[in-house]
Amino acid sequence: QSQELSQVQVDYHAALQALVEDGTRMVCTGRMHTDRICRFESLCYSTEAEEFVYFHSNSSVMLPNLGSRRFQPALLDLSSVEDHNTQYFNFVELPAAALKFMPKPVFVPDVALIANRFNPDNLMHVFHDDLLPIYYTMQQFSDLDLEARLFFMEGWSEGVHFDLYKLLSNKQPLLREQLKTLGRLLCFTKSYVGLSKITTWYQYGFVQPQGPKANILVSGNEIRQFTKFMMQKLNVTLEEGSSEEYIVVFSRTINRLILNEAELILALAQEFQMKTITVSLEEHSFSDIVRLISNASMLVSMHGAQLVMSLFLPRGATVVELFPYAINPEHYTPYKTLATLPGMDLQYIAWQNTDREDTVTYPDRPWDQGGIAHLDKAEQERIIKSTEVPRHLCCRNPEWLVRAYQDTKVNIPSLIHVIRQTVKSKPGPKKQKWSGSIYPGKVRDAKCQASVQGTSEAKLAVSWQIPWNLKYLKVREVKYEVWIQEQGENTYMPYILSHQNHTFSENIKPFTIYLVWIRCIFNKNLLGPFADVLLCST
Ligand code: UDP
Repeated sequence: QSQELSQVQVDYHAALQALVEDGTRMVCTGRMHTDRICRFESLCYSTEAEEFVYFHSNSSVMLPNLGSRRFQPALLDLSSVEDHNTQYFNFVELPAAALKFMPKPVFVPDVALIANRFNPDNLMHVFHDDLLPIYYTMQQFSDLDLEARLFFMEGWSEGVHFDLYKLLSNKQPLLREQLKTLGRLLCFTKSYVGLSKITTWYQYGFVQPQGPKANILVSGNEIRQFTKFMMQKLNVTLEEGSSEEYIVVFSRTINRLILNEAELILALAQEFQMKTITVSLEEHSFSDIVRLISNASMLVSMHGAQLVMSLFLPRGATVVELFPYAINPEHYTPYKTLATLPGMDLQYIAWQNTDREDTVTYPDRPWDQGGIAHLDKAEQERIIKSTEVPRHLCCRNPEWLVRAYQDTKVNIPSLIHVIRQTVKSKPGPKKQKWSGSIYPGKVRDAKCQASVQGTSEAKLAVSWQIPWNLKYLKVREVKYEVWIQEQGENTYMPYILSHQNHTFSENIKPFTIYLVWIRCIFNKNLLGPFADVLLCST
């Protein structure tokens, strides 16, 4: 016992000495605060000041060394939401010598991932802003393995979905409040700060109205690698070739209700000749919902965070999103964007209630549940008369909220009609072949040979070899695109060819230099890179 204790004390003294002598070391990736993730040795946190602390000493490192640009506006985003001014990370600086006068540091031995959750009570935010970004940040840095520990600094309590966060590592995640119980000055031996934004597909409308991100970098493949991991952790096993096909209606029980849910379920079952079941976050365990959705042919739900569960649908399934009156489906597309990511292989259908008779509005509720009674009479009247919520910024637009929290009596024939425009026979998971797409390499050994006939006619014979990777692939259709550009001109003549050589004669002039660009195309839309440009003189 005493042996063990003294061992710990020796380690403690060694750790303290290292901190005093070496100080904090930071090396980051990313050029801007919005794409930066930093790795630290000996980053500390004062639970009294609620500030991170960087200790300067002889061996400390700070890369990037931004000087006061570190505050313009911050070193990095602590959540995955881009440039949100409540989610910035920074530290205060001290000389390591100051440690003599400070509380004794408590060392955190685990490799730490330090980040903010954005909105842990909303399932869409949980998956899109937290779980996927944490999962792929951990994939980016090999020492963030299952033994790493997550530290959530946003200051919320666990929240209703905390069990999901616990699946990402074997260690219990710690919240900001809990750090106080560990000590006054915590020092993280090794830590990473910030989250990768590479998997996010939606921006919530803080600076411009909400919509898909401008540059989406994730495909269905990475989404499904993540859901596979989550399903293993949840002990949900996919029943291969399981028998019965069915439809899931994901219902909300508190607000934004489907008023004729029983009728809807009967109609879907009747129309598609499939068992139709309902689930809700209030009445089912999370694993049960995942198990049911991961084998479903179709998922039907009101617009809302529960629709993020389409992450777990099998390839080939259909998502049907129902929108309340006056809410234009094209303006609220987090779930459409998800379903239509390349390689998600889901069919997406939006239905909107266009009939005032079928909507129930709650103008007298509190403002955060969509009430508008606090607005002046004229504004209330305008909102109630309006047939469409104009595009708006997040997050407290009363006109949006009052419409978003309406209940809807779904017009069954109209809904079935919309679904039938897309789903012709039976909906459902088709056993699909691997749908990843492989791009051609450069064409090889490109050559050209010119011949001149007289003073006005010339020909250009161009040939090349197939891209190196093609000989290992089965490709349905291989084509080549050739651009011929006269040197010094801005325009070019494009050709699509099936063979590996071609003699060009139209518009080819004698005694002229041509630039020839060649690339390979698989299956019409998989465009390869251009080979090095060929210079051809006639
Ligand atoms: N929620 C639910 N049933 C309800 C209302 C809400 O399960 O009747 C869930 C919803 O899926 C989300 C959270 O509660 O995870 C917050 O819902 P809110 O209406 O605030 O957000 P939205 O669904 O519009 O994103």
